[in-house]
Amino acid sequence: MLNRIDLRGSATDPRGLLPRAQLDVAAAVDAIRPVVEAVREHGFAAVREATERFDGVRLERLRVPTEAIAAAVEALDPEVRAALTEAIARARKVHTDQRRTDVTTQVVPGGTVTERWVPVSRVGLYVPGGLAMYPSTVVMNVVPAQVAGVEGLVITSPPQVDNGGLPDARVLAACALLGVDEVYAVGGAQAIAMLAYGVPGECEPVDMITGPGNIWVTAAKRLLRGVVGIDAEAGPTEIAILADDTADPVHVAADLISQAEHDPLAASVLVTPSTALVEAVEAELTRQVAATKHTGRITEALTGPQSGAVLVDDLEQGLRVVDAYAAEHLEIQTEDAREWAMRVRNAGAVFVGAWSPVSLGDYLAGSNHVLPTGGCARHSSGLSVQSFLRGIHVIEYGEEALRDVAGHVVTLATVEDLPAHGQAVTARFSR
Ligand code: NAD
Repeated sequence: MLNRIDLRGSATDPRGLLPRAQLDVAAAVDAIRPVVEAVREHGFAAVREATERFDGVRLERLRVPTEAIAAAVEALDPEVRAALTEAIARARKVHTDQRRTDVTTQVVPGGTVTERWVPVSRVGLYVPGGLAMYPSTVVMNVVPAQVAGVEGLVITSPPQVDNGGLPDARVLAACALLGVDEVYAVGGAQAIAMLAYGVPGECEPVDMITGPGNIWVTAAKRLLRGVVGIDAEAGPTEIAILADDTADPVHVAADLISQAEHDPLAASVLVTPSTALVEAVEAELTRQVAATKHTGRITEALTGPQSGAVLVDDLEQGLRVVDAYAAEHLEIQTEDAREWAMRVRNAGAVFVGAWSPVSLGDYLAGSNHVLPTGGCARHSSGLSVQSFLRGIHVIEYGEEALRDVAGHVVTLATVEDLPAHGQAVTARFSR
């Protein structure tokens, strides 16, 4: 089922040898540009027109009434409520430890620089709702924003025909459990435009937008980056598993399948020196895929060019391969898994050993599941409290401290041919 990529004996840099799914976001930007421009010019009427066209719902108001949010949590299945409550509690525990404290550095006597961590004022969170519903995404976006101290939190999610034109009831219930009551029934590019520009009388503009979405949502985020802050462009999801012959093929196959379940473009990659493991995992995939619910899209994802079994000489080469790939999710299922995990340099999140599957991190580990895809883990991290904070430097020097360093300022200003910069310092001492 999996493509085989044999890197044994290869000294070539593995970067680029592992294929990835490609999305043509640039073409999608051209497609949604008229929708975004219409929302900027015509506000409510344009959001309503796009929603009717793409979601089949005619909106009377964009904002969800607070009674509907309260009713959704009342009607929530008690087991779902218990699971969401536990997910929120664990995420809060982890994210609370990510809080930053202001730091003052005394650079010289009489001269300090303080770094103040200040939350973004108003944030819009996009919660997808086309093919599947994601109450867990509400948790993963809202918890770090709340811990960071964001005061204005807004959620938008597509209206559902089968929920009377409101967003999915479980998404609304998750909003209620987290205490978010400003919720809009808008999806797609029109939702991103609504958040970025605001809609008079309906929704005030936000400073930053976070959250995953399909290609139209991603395209609108790319187009509006700069008008508002954007967390990241989420591409198709990925799992890489570094495993040796101590790994259980039943677990490995189940975890490759769980990621493939998201999307036909999802990538599931096994990296191992063990041909016996590859054979055993193949047999398990055949057995487990036939027994699972979304066989069609899982088979498409597992057999697609973005997925495969990569054979390596040993775990050292395997580590170089997974570092070059920089997966969104990386599992280590080897002997001494923790030691290998601590050597990983590029991954969105690392799942260690037999009892830490990616599904745990999707919902209940306490970690965040909004993670960098497409190799962006080489330079970026997942969503965290830090994502919602800005570090503002506060500079405070006294007269003597400035006098002491004035000569150096003038020298560097002269080198850069910006003499007025130097004069802004010397003017203070020339009277
Ligand atoms: P979505 O909410 O992103 O998109 C639905 C919206 O797309 C609709 O409201 C509609 O207005 C708009 N739309 C539909 N067809 C359109 C068209 N032809 N032109 C313009 N707009 C159109 O929901 P989705 O489609 O289910 O996609 C969700 C995505 O988010 C999936 O790819 C999923 O894998 C991803 N996701 C990622 C994470 C993560 O943490 N990385 C979590 C959850 C979901």
